[in-house]
Amino acid sequence: MMNIIFLGTSGMRPTKERNHSCIILEHNKENIMFDCGEGTQRQMKIAGIDFNRISTILISHWHGDHVLGIPGFIQSLAAQNYSGTLHIYGPKGTKKRINAMFKAFVFDNPLKIEIKEIKKDGIFLEKDEYTIAAYKLEHSTPCIGFVFKEADKRKIKTDFIAKLGIPHGPLLGKLQEGKDILFNGKKIKAEDATTLIEGKKIGYIADTAVCEGCAKIAKNADLLISESTHASNLEDKAEEYQHLTAKQAGLIALHNNAKKLILTHFSQRYKNTKELEEDAKTHFDNVICAYDFMKIKL
Ligand SMILES: [Zn+2]
Ligand SMILES: [Zn+2]
Repeated sequence: MMNIIFLGTSGMRPTKERNHSCIILEHNKENIMFDCGEGTQRQMKIAGIDFNRISTILISHWHGDHVLGIPGFIQSLAAQNYSGTLHIYGPKGTKKRINAMFKAFVFDNPLKIEIKEIKKDGIFLEKDEYTIAAYKLEHSTPCIGFVFKEADKRKIKTDFIAKLGIPHGPLLGKLQEGKDILFNGKKIKAEDATTLIEGKKIGYIADTAVCEGCAKIAKNADLLISESTHASNLEDKAEEYQHLTAKQAGLIALHNNAKKLILTHFSQRYKNTKELEEDAKTHFDNVICAYDFMKIKL
């Protein structure tokens, strides 16, 4: 089970319809948060997301529109006796800035929080069920984008197994783990007895100019989420503030073989995002613009 919920889809300034950046990835019983803009906890309440299931906060960069929701969110976790360890990953400077946030108001933090700074490209979190990698982006402050990749799974070929008469139990478990087995003195190869189902790959390109990191994040993504602050008639403005246009996001998706593109992080000037969608479609057809509370099942 995997869902993506957009809780905030605005750029620097929120609007009546759009909150600051936050995306929740629900993966089985665990929720992972990508950025935590101001107002995130109210958006979570409205969307019905259980605070206690958030295991991890991934911070792309320390501009206010991506992080100002963190202290309030943590304060609420503490008030409801969050029992796990909250893992926070972000770019260089994250530890110092989180600690500075807690000094700014009265709060004795009882939570177990583990903060890690990501200083190089590649996988930084590896679990049985998934991996998460980060890649450097180009923005006016250190900024990283993320790739969430589900682990590949093996599905038993039931006909094949039935023909050989292999009983349900540990032998099938081994095949599912990709290990060959011995059955009635005969070697059964996992690759013959199972079908490999590739895990889904989700990329998140946060605030950035066009750069190598964008390509690494987009490469073969089943779903690419990308900022697109402006349409291409404002490319100069986008360049000046190191942001992408919708057209550039479309090009990145096309050149890197992404299957689906969702645009987010819009300038407040776009009341209607049709213009941005059309702009991206010059290069890439399978694109939609996110809106607050949009939910995608994968
Ligand atoms: Zn931003
Ligand atoms: Zn920014």
